[in-house]
Amino acid sequence: MRFTLVSNLLGLLLNMQLLAQPGSSCTTPTPLPHHYAFIEQHREGLSTENSFRLPVTLHIIRTSNGSSSFNSQWAVDALCAVNARFQAVGICFYLAGPVRFINRTDLTNPPSFAAASAILDEFNVARTINIYYTNLANFGTCAFAFFPGIGPGGPQNQGGVVMGTNCASDDGALLAHELGHYFNLPHTFNETSDNPRDWLFAERVTRNNNEPAPRLSANCNNSSDRFCDTPADFLPVRWPCPTSITQTDTNGDLFQPDATLYMGYARDSCMQRFSPQQIAVMRATLSTPTAPRAYLLLQPQTVGVSSLTTPQLLQPGTVDSQITVSNGSFQWSRSLNAQWYHFRLFQFTNQMVVDTVVSDTFWQAPNGLLRINRPYRWQVRALGRDAYCSHPSPFFNFTAALNTSVFDTKGTQIKMYPQPSTGFIQLAGFSADEKVRLELYSLQGQRLQSSNLQCDDAGQTTWAYDYIPNGLYTILLHAKSNHYRLRMHHFNP
Ligand SMILES: [Zn+2]
Repeated sequence: MRFTLVSNLLGLLLNMQLLAQPGSSCTTPTPLPHHYAFIEQHREGLSTENSFRLPVTLHIIRTSNGSSSFNSQWAVDALCAVNARFQAVGICFYLAGPVRFINRTDLTNPPSFAAASAILDEFNVARTINIYYTNLANFGTCAFAFFPGIGPGGPQNQGGVVMGTNCASDDGALLAHELGHYFNLPHTFNETSDNPRDWLFAERVTRNNNEPAPRLSANCNNSSDRFCDTPADFLPVRWPCPTSITQTDTNGDLFQPDATLYMGYARDSCMQRFSPQQIAVMRATLSTPTAPRAYLLLQPQTVGVSSLTTPQLLQPGTVDSQITVSNGSFQWSRSLNAQWYHFRLFQFTNQMVVDTVVSDTFWQAPNGLLRINRPYRWQVRALGRDAYCSHPSPFFNFTAALNTSVFDTKGTQIKMYPQPSTGFIQLAGFSADEKVRLELYSLQGQRLQSSNLQCDDAGQTTWAYDYIPNGLYTILLHAKSNHYRLRMHHFNP
């Protein structure tokens, strides 16, 4: 018997070595006795509330000058994906505030678990789920989280989740795993392989409580993760699915762990569910009288909004347009339901120059940021508290010019009349037969009407527009080589 056990373990260790990927682990601390007690108390009783809406604060750690190789949109995308993955749990997540950028070089590569944990003490936002992104490669981990009731951050901003930018992806699988810990779920292989207490203690395959001797009866209720609806699992290393790995428990029963469970270590692409008992416990951390995460429900509940419109980039507005180095003013249209805008500016295609979240529909480049004749591209994504699964705008390219703004029609031959106009405008100054794209915007940046115009052989064209209230409007003209912005006064007495 002992020999069999040893050979089983040796086989298991060989398997682990074959499968182990450096830096692929989760270093969430082992649960404490009160976490097991909580599971045993709540795994059978599913709470009856329909769904919980929980506030999240996203923190992205960068160097002191604001640079990072991490694609910050992934933090939002992963949260969006995790929302879908938690639908069966009846939990959805909303943004409690704008994405927070922490520009501190000393926090970009924490050397130890303790150093990474200390970040939470300094930056946690109370009564929200704090999710951080920084590089965790220095101590060989991908991510970690804190079980309820422990961890840095004080009684109401307690613990959180730290995601390694060295392992981060936008699919939300690893984040779902870490949030499982945050809501009191151990690994499915807990206390069996990564932290063995006793080989006899390892979870058995059988669910029969009266096995005939010498077989041992079921122990799923008080071993491993304490869930009987998650099968035995002895694999604390990343493993692919489907798998040919079979393992043997203390009864000699062959089994394969369940690759679909988030709380195991199957590859991200295999994970897709929490078990009913796991769901009951996660919900109990929010809703029972002594629920350790109930403070997450103290925030004002927001009204769900399912969609956001994609912002229209206005200035610099299209391919090959130009902007001056001394006046780099970026403008985009307002999106319905948006609270914030994620603005990103790159030079030479992929080099990040600016990555920030603002609440208005413009961003002003500080003098000296933009360099003459350098190619840039920029993009804006609307973010709402609830609707953050939005598409970013397409990238628009421009080159910074010295001091001539081509958007200003002053000093150019482009003319528009009459002013005020009453339902049509005439445009002149283009090349013969030139095609011009016209867009009409409100002063709030909302695109109201647009039209493709064909100039005559004198470079002139006329545009009759649909009804608009009397007032001031902005017109953008996109011609073959240049782009123009004009103010239009509509007045129909
Ligand atoms: Zn884990």
